[in-house]
Amino acid sequence: MALSLFKNADALYEQAIDLIKQGEFEKARGRLMKSIEKDGGPDDISSVLVCMIDMRGRLGDISAYRNLLNALKATAAREFTFGLTTVSVPMMIVQCELAVEEIQAFNMNGASTVLLEKGNRLLKLAQRYQSEVGNETLKMNEIFLNDTTRTGIREGMVLLAMGYESLASGTVWDDPKKAAEYQQIAYGYRKQVGDTGESNLRLVNDYSRTCKCWFCGRTASGLGIHFFPISSEISPMLRKSGEGEPLRSESEDYGSIYACRACYKGISARADDIAKAYHNQAMSEMRAMEARLQAEIVALWSAVRSIR
Ligand SMILES: [Zn+2]
Repeated sequence: MALSLFKNADALYEQAIDLIKQGEFEKARGRLMKSIEKDGGPDDISSVLVCMIDMRGRLGDISAYRNLLNALKATAAREFTFGLTTVSVPMMIVQCELAVEEIQAFNMNGASTVLLEKGNRLLKLAQRYQSEVGNETLKMNEIFLNDTTRTGIREGMVLLAMGYESLASGTVWDDPKKAAEYQQIAYGYRKQVGDTGESNLRLVNDYSRTCKCWFCGRTASGLGIHFFPISSEISPMLRKSGEGEPLRSESEDYGSIYACRACYKGISARADDIAKAYHNQAMSEMRAMEARLQAEIVALWSAVRSIR
């Protein structure tokens, strides 16, 4: 009796394995659920396969990874096959745990302290990918995205780049030169994974730039963060006045002047206030004119009616 029950569960399981190979995931899931009801021994991996099926389209979903982790930790089996890919259970546990931490780190955003914390977490994760996953492929990418190029080493390299980019973002507010160094390191890792690293180089250049504010004369480093260009017209006489200065207050083409963040923000806020006042004045004048016209129309109509 027991034997026939097991046989039944095994048959369902075998059917499910074939259905997964054919890409019939929903049908496979149904067979697996039935087989779990009937059997569910200590080395049963039906629960693992159900959770794997549920991972489709949810590779960024922490709860999907947690369900899979529970199933992986409950089975006594050492490996399983999903479709054409054979996966070691301990390796999958490592990859799922790393994926959860990676998603949590990616979701960190906010002030400089948060970005620094995010950067440090990504760097630690990078080391773990390189040492614990190494040259193994990332199984979720292989199974669900058909991508066998992503190994632990490569993922580590990408995370090193992202970690240093996050450190740069967290540092640039206080120390743009240090932020430029972090971007330079990130650039090296981007190149190693075949990216152009263009945006890193641009930021290295911007963060390293220093100017003397045209308005207040203060020195500011970090283009786009601590100082900004404002388009202007610099006459030949004014150009001469800046000659010989170690730091420039204007762009090379003399099309714009540089303003430190404080001057730039102050000027912008004041200009906004003035624009708002003009806008409000124009609106109230328009409303008054509308009321006058309305009154004239009413008067005209009554005149027209009296003529009839
Ligand atoms: Zn200034």
